[in-house]
Amino acid sequence: MTRARIVGNLAERDGPRCFHCRRPFAADMVGATLDHYVPRALWKTWRQRNLVLACAPCNWSKGDRLPWTVAALLLRNVRQHQLWRDACGAASSPSV
Ligand SMILES: [Zn+2]
Repeated sequence: MTRARIVGNLAERDGPRCFHCRRPFAADMVGATLDHYVPRALWKTWRQRNLVLACAPCNWSKGDRLPWTVAALLLRNVRQHQLWRDACGAASSPSV
């Protein structure tokens, strides 16, 4: 699949704009870069479900970091796991 085809598919899926700052691209999609939503350092794939369109400044500033939405979900899951573990630990403690 060509890059132009991928860009077209992503524009159709998400709209012809930067996924991060929402600035629209020109009709010819000049300035659109392919950004790995989950960085390639963590998930080595070129599947379109992990790609979004991004303007160059957003893509460069994001770099190899997780988007804040993914980081927030991971932190939420860690917090819920801690709460669950604390609750189970408290429930299974012998009463004195
Ligand atoms: Zn942007």
